Amino acid sequence: MKTFCSAAKRWLAPAGLLSLCLTGCLLAQPSAAPQPTVTATPPPPSATTPALSYSAVHVDGPYIAMTFDDGPSEKLTPELLDILAQYHIHATFFVIGKNAAEHPEILQRAVREGHEIGNHSWSHPAFAKMSDEKVRAELQKTDDTIRAALGGRPVLMRPPYGSITARQKKWINAEFGYRTILWDVDPLDWKRPGPAIVTHRIVTETRPGSIILSHDIHPGTIKAMPATFDQLQAKGFKFVTVSELIAMGRPMLPKKMGDEGPTPLSSPATSQGPTTVPAVSPSPGLTTP
Ligand SMILES: [Zn+2]
Repeated sequence: MKTFCSAAKRWLAPAGLLSLCLTGCLLAQPSAAPQPTVTATPPPPSATTPALSYSAVHVDGPYIAMTFDDGPSEKLTPELLDILAQYHIHATFFVIGKNAAEHPEILQRAVREGHEIGNHSWSHPAFAKMSDEKVRAELQKTDDTIRAALGGRPVLMRPPYGSITARQKKWINAEFGYRTILWDVDPLDWKRPGPAIVTHRIVTETRPGSIILSHDIHPGTIKAMPATFDQLQAKGFKFVTVSELIAMGRPMLPKKMGDEGPTPLSSPATSQGPTTVPAVSPSPGLTTP
């Protein structure tokens, strides 16, 4: 894949691992360097100036990204992969390093089937309260595990609980090349409200450019997916990986509402476009596993 290979050159060439270029699209991202040239007045974010962080992306079409956190789960993630295959949907998995180390074969299957893998830390701590050294160790150990499983590095990172500071986003991008990926649709599936409610929340809150949070470690979330996918596809939405969604990002321009897809871009999150969002802790104190 073209985007994979251009990213792979950047990340893998120094390690002499180019021959490990996978057919799956693990590392897709625009080819701009992580650290832009410093200028007196940096240009505003645009489609060609990748942002450090996204909670949604301003896109012209009905494109959205499903994301699944905290796996892989030995039992549930393969079930989810079966469902995604039936619907021809590519998703993004933000994996816990510990779980990935136990089930590299699930990561390999996911990438083989067109999904993207991102780093979700080794043990799921809240970064914002931690020293740089500890955050670095959490990310590095998981990065190493993903690379050992797949032969390539991720380009996306999601901080557990969305807990991260603006300063951390910057040095993590500079050191690891990661973009920080948050979300604008949260069905609170970790509270296990039942599949029908998970589906309803996702379907009613999703807009073009949405990044949808969910977890492939809860049975109810997996059960909710067929109806969720049916209803989102009936509304005209098309599913892409987060890196694909970012690659479609367009600068914000004055625009008429309601002419960009199945639903207007009316939520505050999606109207921000591809831009750096402030540090957020959408769910402080959550105790998801
Ligand atoms: Zn998580």
